[in-house]
Amino acid sequence: MGRFTKIVAGVFGMTLLLSGCAMDSLGDPVDASPEPGQENTLGTITAGVLTVCSEIPFEPFEYEDPADPEKYTGFDIDIVGEIATRLGLELVVVDSDFDALQSGLSLATDKCDLGASAMTITEDRRANIDFTDAYYDSLQSLLVAKDSGITSLDDLAGKSIGVQKGTTGEIYAEQNQPEGAQIVGYPSDGELWPALQAGQIQAILQDQPVNVIHARTDAAYVVVAEYQTDESYGMALAKDKNPELLAAVNGALAEMRADGTYKQIYDKYFA
Ligand code: GLN
Repeated sequence: MGRFTKIVAGVFGMTLLLSGCAMDSLGDPVDASPEPGQENTLGTITAGVLTVCSEIPFEPFEYEDPADPEKYTGFDIDIVGEIATRLGLELVVVDSDFDALQSGLSLATDKCDLGASAMTITEDRRANIDFTDAYYDSLQSLLVAKDSGITSLDDLAGKSIGVQKGTTGEIYAEQNQPEGAQIVGYPSDGELWPALQAGQIQAILQDQPVNVIHARTDAAYVVVAEYQTDESYGMALAKDKNPELLAAVNGALAEMRADGTYKQIYDKYFA
């Protein structure tokens, strides 16, 4: 994968982005200005740069690179890195709030060109977002402590089910919770998972690949149920704003499927 720039959202990162002055992973300024005569044909918010919002951590899709804390890695990051390369753009990843991303707000306010955050394509979201073609099929799941005796949602009456705010997992929990359960929303999986480990909640209802990683990381936890919700992830763009970029991203994705690059990246994380 090519070099890319990691920017942690916040006033600092946003100021840099808005002023068009990005930094690379070593803190050196990136020369993102177009060559004289070169046009910003894809209409990205910074010429020469593909600015991608992603809510981190969400392993295995987007998380800090254990080999290099200056960088993010994961399935989504590799996919957008490859897309950026094919479009002749430099990738900048901005850690963002998922709820603001899935609502379309971060995209509508020009914080990023693309959201790549394991985001499920839904009809509700389509009202505010243009989705790329689907790039990953997913499902929901229930993660609990191995010694809890909990094996299904029904065992959670009188207990707390943790979810990530604004996600399809939250919707699934709301629609399928047993009477007397309490649903507790967290802004990100980065808070949700420690809450389960600390015993503040008794279960996590979350995308299955992410719960699988938690169970693999800590043998005291186990995925006890999977729910076939027929979800597919898409990358998100501001609604009706940049059809050229949408077409270009879909084109790169199709090329990557055709030439084996997609499969290579897929196997790296899911084989
Ligand atoms: N796939 C889920 C959704 O779209 C969760 C995504 C996430 O938390 N990053 O709601």
